[in-house]
Amino acid sequence: MMAEDFIFYLKQNIGSPSQAVVKAGDTVERGELIAAKPKSLGANLHSSVTGRVLQVTEKEIVIRETGTDFSSYKKLEGKTPWELVVEAGLIGLGGAGFPTDVKLRTRLSSKGTAIINAVECEPVLAHNIARIEEDAEKLLEALQIILELLQVKIGMIAIKKIHKKAIAALKTADKEKRYQIVELEDMYPTGEERAIIRDTLHILLPTDALPSQADAVIFNAETALRIREAIVEKKPLIDKDITVAGKLKENASIRIIKNVPVGKKVSGVFEQAGGLNDEFGEIIMGGPFTGKRTTPEEAVQKTTGGLIVSECFFHETGSIGLLVCACGADERRLEEIAVSMGSRVCGTEYCKQAVKHGEALKCENPGHCPGQVEKIMKLKKAGAEAVLISNCTDCTNTVMSCAPKLGLKVFHCTDQVLRAVNHRLIRKYHKTEENQ
Ligand code: SF4
Repeated sequence: MMAEDFIFYLKQNIGSPSQAVVKAGDTVERGELIAAKPKSLGANLHSSVTGRVLQVTEKEIVIRETGTDFSSYKKLEGKTPWELVVEAGLIGLGGAGFPTDVKLRTRLSSKGTAIINAVECEPVLAHNIARIEEDAEKLLEALQIILELLQVKIGMIAIKKIHKKAIAALKTADKEKRYQIVELEDMYPTGEERAIIRDTLHILLPTDALPSQADAVIFNAETALRIREAIVEKKPLIDKDITVAGKLKENASIRIIKNVPVGKKVSGVFEQAGGLNDEFGEIIMGGPFTGKRTTPEEAVQKTTGGLIVSECFFHETGSIGLLVCACGADERRLEEIAVSMGSRVCGTEYCKQAVKHGEALKCENPGHCPGQVEKIMKLKKAGAEAVLISNCTDCTNTVMSCAPKLGLKVFHCTDQVLRAVNHRLIRKYHKTEENQ
């Protein structure tokens, strides 16, 4: 078997990059520190493999794996929970990558709430729910650890009501009913932090506010489980659960691979999942709404949740208008999809609830449609024959009630992924049993 090279990006978190502490030629073991937390906001980085360092650049460390025992790792040395959380290099695994030790230091009142985000908001992604079904007790143990570190008493788990098996596992594990399990609708973007605060604590925060303004902190489910691993098992953040989906050679179009070593190449993960189909549209890292196009040569990062091989693109060679959502694909990503479809972009509009904060867009009331007719009319005026949208479930519903009447075809940024896994496309929203 050929030796496999692993790539560890030095910038995987919000803040500054980690600083390499190894050099070419060094040998490292699985779990060993290879790049240290900077003085400013950041996180430690550990090797997920045993091997030899091939290269260290400003951006990455490349390690050639040599006979790793993936069932063990070099244990963390910290003595206290706080030392272990910092040493482990934990960051938010829901996609944002905010250093976990800083979040755990959020000051809440004694009536504050710690919320586990088990919403698994993006369609197709299923690794958080799969883990909860298997490890519900560990998730509750993680929540208790978080409550103690934050010095608060109220613990909540936000989860979509469709995940009946995971909810049952949590209720069985919570024999003393110490925690609140809040069941939410199966709509996008139910898992957005301010949407969770609105739907659990009934507070609609302004677009620039953090959950702490509602006396709460939110942790993604896998992040919570990795906090527990760091403190109880002294394990650094070196492995990541991933949903691998789409046009795979093997029959199953959605597969969960637990504990993929961070740094493994995308090509290696697909090999593990049985290989790619011969024909496909693109490879996406992340979910269908917010994921980014990637290549087989890129590597799994701490924040990687999905690796998806999409269906071939629809071919639509006319003028297309873009309608951008704050919580879905951004303008650049919609342009990328439009080019792949062979379309010419004739205009771009933003949902009127999308508010700019620097480069980022934030929704004033995530998932509650403010009306889209005016925006669709503007795109029609700009010459659009079709629209490509990234809107939430509720807003897509509104687009579907006006765009076809104006003779405009509607495409959604998630189409290629949902076709690849035979899911219903996001168009008209029906309150069926499946959605309740
Ligand atoms: S209301 Fe608009 S900005 Fe907000 S989630 Fe829906 S489409 Fe996106």
